Amino acid sequence: MFGIYTIYWVLGIVMLPGLALGIWAQTKVYTTFNQYNSVQTQHGLTASGVARYMLDGAGYPDVKIAHIRGELTDNFNPQTNTISLSDAVYNQSTISAVGVTAHEIGHVVQHKTGYGLIKLRNILVPIINFLGYFVWPFIFIGLILEIMYASTAANWLIYIGLALYSFNILFCLITLPIELNASKRAYKMLLATGEMDMEEANQAKQVLNAAAWTYVAALVTSVLSLVRLLLMIFMVRGGGRRD
Ligand SMILES: [Zn+2]
Repeated sequence: MFGIYTIYWVLGIVMLPGLALGIWAQTKVYTTFNQYNSVQTQHGLTASGVARYMLDGAGYPDVKIAHIRGELTDNFNPQTNTISLSDAVYNQSTISAVGVTAHEIGHVVQHKTGYGLIKLRNILVPIINFLGYFVWPFIFIGLILEIMYASTAANWLIYIGLALYSFNILFCLITLPIELNASKRAYKMLLATGEMDMEEANQAKQVLNAAAWTYVAALVTSVLSLVRLLLMIFMVRGGGRRD
């Protein structure tokens, strides 16, 4: 039997490593980004200029470039065929700004060339979102049936709920290599187009590697969330058996 406070504490503590890794990764992104956002590229072209030059050179003059508000909100939207560059990036000609831009162009190339993991993620995202609605109903109904009626069908409902929940991990597991691949493409493009020399490209790589850690943190957090859910079910069941 577990008291409600024990449950709260245990469920909170389980998430701590993910939270700590997340905070560490965010801090690392900001410090590395800011460090190289004070270093101008020798080439001197602004990030939006680099984006246009690289996209045209890669054969994608149709991709639009927009200015978006916020910090590190840079992204490529395949629906609108637009790369959005944030305040600290758009008009800047720094290592960080140009590096982040090249990463987004890496995503453009992934979409345009039908990179396998992108295709897989596009198929999975609507399925994962849809199935997500059923996680809690399955688990709650399963737990209620088990505690109130000691029903054996309850186990199956809980297992299905858990299986649906673990799709979140699959999403993070696919996203991480997509992000690493975009950064790898960025590094190669920066050198191939002459936007950066080797030393500058390696500095840009540090910024992009730091960003990749946030996706590692998301993956760890998704695994810990599943562990937390398992523990919650275990403890609620333990609390239910008052015989
Ligand atoms: Zn990315």
